[in-house]
Amino acid sequence: MKFNEEIRAIQNNWTTNKISKRTAIIEFEQAMRELGLIPQDQWLNYEMDDKEFLDLLQKAEAVNPVEIKKLQAKIREEDDAIMEEYAGWKLCHHCHKPMATLFTYVNVQIAGDSSTKERIQLDVPRCGPCVKEYLDQYVFKTKSRPLPTQPLTVEIPMSPSELEFFQFYEKQMREFNNDK
Ligand SMILES: [Zn+2]
Repeated sequence: MKFNEEIRAIQNNWTTNKISKRTAIIEFEQAMRELGLIPQDQWLNYEMDDKEFLDLLQKAEAVNPVEIKKLQAKIREEDDAIMEEYAGWKLCHHCHKPMATLFTYVNVQIAGDSSTKERIQLDVPRCGPCVKEYLDQYVFKTKSRPLPTQPLTVEIPMSPSELEFFQFYEKQMREFNNDK
């Protein structure tokens, strides 16, 4: 049975009480699914009211299955073309763009020293531009960050005997230099 005839038959069977509305909706859903108008993982509301169901039936009766199939074929072709264009490409885990090459690490030359290269592991596989972004954001910035401040030293005032000793020591040194 052709799609439009099938829809008309469902409507007739329902309106003449040969089948329940629920059965009619399930049959309708099945016919729509076969034509690809309802995805496999979606279901109709089996509790919809009469008017709502009648609207759907009428819309479905007006559908041209040949046109629908042509349209679906066109979409499939476009999908295939897109997939072919990006065959072998991978999606960058950072920007999600398809890229021919992804990097999991890079060897970076640290400023000044041409013989030393540092191997930097990336957070996720990244494309070229995203590697650069990562280096700019995390690595180079970290390298140029000021060094940790010196550990705190606690100054303890010298005891009088220490002061005396150092004064004596300084005096000795002065005299020694003057004697030269
Ligand atoms: Zn990227």
